[in-house]
Amino acid sequence: METFLPISYLNDFVFCPYSIYLHQVFDNNKEVVYTAKPQQRGKTAHQIIDTQNKPKNNILKGAYVLSNKLGVYGKIDTLYTKKQKLVESKFQIKTIYRGYLYQLWAQYFALTEMGFSIKELNFFSMRERQTIPIKIPGQVEFDELRAHIKKIARFNFESEINVNPVKCQHCIYAALCDKTNLDHVYA
Ligand code: SF4
Repeated sequence: METFLPISYLNDFVFCPYSIYLHQVFDNNKEVVYTAKPQQRGKTAHQIIDTQNKPKNNILKGAYVLSNKLGVYGKIDTLYTKKQKLVESKFQIKTIYRGYLYQLWAQYFALTEMGFSIKELNFFSMRERQTIPIKIPGQVEFDELRAHIKKIARFNFESEINVNPVKCQHCIYAALCDKTNLDHVYA
């Protein structure tokens, strides 16, 4: 069986590689379910639309997407099928981190591989109700994304990592993490 990386790992790895390891340890059962689903569902546009996610009013929400070329799968936030617009919402966006872009690019490439046409990409910061347009990625971005995915796939999670206390304080795994004694701000 082919192995696919969750699209969410693309940002998690930029934030802290060790968070992926902890996610696997503490949330392993869910991953088994996730890895099975997109392989059944994600290969063509018709497949995902014909299963749980039928577009309502030309809006497709929370659909699974999969890219065989990149070896990733995940859920999109909102696709406006008629407007050919993909939107990823986050509670608050102060900075467009590279990891955010990797997630959105991966969703875009998966959708186009599945037969969708996308002409517009946006982030949406819910707190400020702000739309942030993102340039459509091309071959340069595809190559960068693929290199990032390969880096994750080959990463030795037992190697030393740089612990950044500022990140730890905003990491949901802080209470479980053996690399820090800090509590996260959500505690
Ligand atoms: S608590 Fe810190 S070191 Fe541990 S996974 Fe989170 S960010 Fe990484």
